[in-house]
Amino acid sequence: TIEDQVKIKTCELALAKEAAEKASMAKTEFLASMSHELRTPLNSVIGFTRRVMNRSANRLDERSLDALAVVDRNANHLLGLINNLLDISKLDLGKLELSLTQVALDEMLAETKNQFLPMAEVKGTSVQLECQFHGLIEADATRLRQVIINLMANAVKFTVGGEIKICLVEKSVQKVPGVELRVEDTGIGIAPDDIEKLFNKFQKVGREEKLNPEGTGLGLALTKELVELHKGTVSVTSEPGKLTVFSVWLPQRHG
Ligand code: ADP
Repeated sequence: TIEDQVKIKTCELALAKEAAEKASMAKTEFLASMSHELRTPLNSVIGFTRRVMNRSANRLDERSLDALAVVDRNANHLLGLINNLLDISKLDLGKLELSLTQVALDEMLAETKNQFLPMAEVKGTSVQLECQFHGLIEADATRLRQVIINLMANAVKFTVGGEIKICLVEKSVQKVPGVELRVEDTGIGIAPDDIEKLFNKFQKVGREEKLNPEGTGLGLALTKELVELHKGTVSVTSEPGKLTVFSVWLPQRHG
């Protein structure tokens, strides 16, 4: 009867779904262990390169020192990509846990601003920081710094000769006390059609898709998941060439 056929189909679909979930889990676990294994030798490449650079600087000629600097830069870039992959897999497996403390977000923003200032200056971009909130929020300091670094790195990467502004204000959402952090830039911006794809994993958009073979398109996916793990939200608006604003809202208390 039709009823039996529906029952059989439902059963088949449930089995197929279970198999697909198992395969996806196996892929994520593979990715997590691979990323972990890749990090160990890479850390030794970075460590030994730095040791040679520091200890033998006066014995090496300029070309060798330049070559070592390239090894150091690329190895660090690779480490960043592997760390992103590891974090994404941990999030997928539900294994990423926050280590909550009281964080002075204003101080963290000032540090991150100083870290990016030289890179922005080389591109003729000015960086402003406007903090109107100086309290503490309950958050995982390392993960929060990662979010800020991802947003700042993109703002610097996609802005030439313009302006980057970082703002922090107090803002409650549905009566929950929180803070809003905005990273604004006047760089190339993002086309309306691309906005909704931005937070997808492995997604690069616009010209960047062709021009930046090095990026993995994981930064914003990770940013979104880390913010959501903090029970916050992230959004973006962009007027290409004029103003792009990434806004992160976070509750002041996690519980
Ligand atoms: P990746 O990890 O490769 O840097 P992201 O997930 O951080 O990738 O960013 C995805 C894409 O979003 C980028 O490739 C770029 O096209 C776009 N994007 C992100 N931030 C900005 C920005 N501030 N201005 C313009 N485009 C941006």
